[in-house]
Amino acid sequence: MSNLSELVAASRLPGEPIHTPMFIGGKPWRGSQDERVVRKSPAHGVAVTSTQRASVADLDAAVSAARQAFDDGRWSRLPAEQRATVLLKTAQLIREQADTLAWFETLESGKPLAQSRGEILGAAGIWEYAAGLARIVHGDTHDSLGERMFGLVLRQPVGVVGIITPWNFPFFILSERLPFALAAGCTVVVKPAELTPTTTLRLATLLAEAGLPEGVVNVVTGLGSVVGQALADHPDVDMISFTGSTSVGQSVMRAAAGNMKKVGLELGGKNPQIVFADADLDDAADAIAFGISFNAGQCCVSGSRLVVHRSVEAELVERVRAVLARVRVGDPLDAANHVGAIVEARQFAKIRGYIEAGRESQAQLVCGGESSSEGERYFVSPTVFRHVDPRGALAQEEIFGPVLAVTPFDTFDEAVALANGVPFGLAASIWTRDLEGAMQSLRAVQAGRIWVNCTITGGPELPIGGFKQSGIGRETGRYGLEEYTELKSVHVQLGARARWMA
Ligand code: NDP
Repeated sequence: MSNLSELVAASRLPGEPIHTPMFIGGKPWRGSQDERVVRKSPAHGVAVTSTQRASVADLDAAVSAARQAFDDGRWSRLPAEQRATVLLKTAQLIREQADTLAWFETLESGKPLAQSRGEILGAAGIWEYAAGLARIVHGDTHDSLGERMFGLVLRQPVGVVGIITPWNFPFFILSERLPFALAAGCTVVVKPAELTPTTTLRLATLLAEAGLPEGVVNVVTGLGSVVGQALADHPDVDMISFTGSTSVGQSVMRAAAGNMKKVGLELGGKNPQIVFADADLDDAADAIAFGISFNAGQCCVSGSRLVVHRSVEAELVERVRAVLARVRVGDPLDAANHVGAIVEARQFAKIRGYIEAGRESQAQLVCGGESSSEGERYFVSPTVFRHVDPRGALAQEEIFGPVLAVTPFDTFDEAVALANGVPFGLAASIWTRDLEGAMQSLRAVQAGRIWVNCTITGGPELPIGGFKQSGIGRETGRYGLEEYTELKSVHVQLGARARWMA
């Protein structure tokens, strides 16, 4: 096999799968059972990486390492300045390794290489931001409780955190959670998706190189239904942060109830692009095409529904179609392509099922609908359906593919009812030139993240999370940091206490 840096520099496929072990207690971990999982690139159909399939015994070892590292204070009781230094050093190493990390991300996920690189560098920025936050974790004082009483509120790390991540943005989603948990002083066990574990494993070694004490971050690879479930169940874990499907999120929540773990959930979305008649239609069309094509629609904040004023519906749909006609779908290692592969056969079949159901419904197929799985390479072209029944599956369910459902509205109230008429509430975009209309819409729409005249943008300063079945809690920003803390309130008696029995 050629040397790794040569492969990365040439954007070539490896000759044989590159193996990365688990990471527990500050060291590579071989695993208690010798079962390897080989990952084929979903864009090329060839084996590219391999990892260990962990047993519950491996998971127990990881939790025990994290528990010990938390309880002896090797991380939580360090001055925050030192924690911040480790996070900053990690960011620097991520930047230095960006090409290699992006290459692995593309091989396992099928997303375009330039997009992977952007996500890795964006993630480095999140680590830098979280390093700053580490130094402002603080509580509160209450000097207003009378002559003889003083109040303190301490903000302390929640303890051992289990982080379960999905396959759509493996490195970025982890970076929206892990540096915040570490900034708060927690120790962590990470369970990445079995389809995309390598960049998470490589990050663990970068953390060690950056000076993170042993046992503070541990990574266990394996099946979600086995080790993910065991992590959510584990009595020595104090909090679970899960990102993925709503159905697994529900089972994680049930498992967490065993020892009343704190729970953070970021789940599905069915996010509306709400376009009013006065919007800049060219701007909106470009963003709508991007919002459904980005990451091949496998994105929790994809703008997968277009809710548009009837007077501009036909014109806007035509402009979206014209933008999508220029989108190139194909090999993610080829810089000319905008959209890469669908992550795996199961997800590909799910998307195709929705497209077939759409063709058979009363909806009108405007463009796309083509797909290919030849040679275990999975591609779907961005697809638009008009006249979609707002109560049907195309408009109600998270497809997690590049499929846009268009429904017109006549009044403001109808637009809001359509936007809110799904079980999810993750994100929404509003397109209008009318300030008052924009303000009224953003007040009324139920979504954790709202974009006005833009879509799928933003940095770590603002929180992310969902209303309704899109989740519980928030990630990123100071709110994200606070999720990984517990509050302790303290009353201090000053002078003699008034006696119960005088
Ligand atoms: P899942 O929700 O099944 O997987 C997400 C993560 O949870 C993975 O790490 C997975 O591990 C793990 N997991 C699976 N089962 C359990 C369990 N019982 N207990 C604890 N952890 C578990 O998503 P899928 O990959 O199966 O995708 C299915 C659908 O979910 C998509 O079509 C999409 O609609 C939605 N989804 C939403 C995401 C979002 O960002 N909101 C992200 C990904 C998917 P493993 O990989 O080993 O199964």
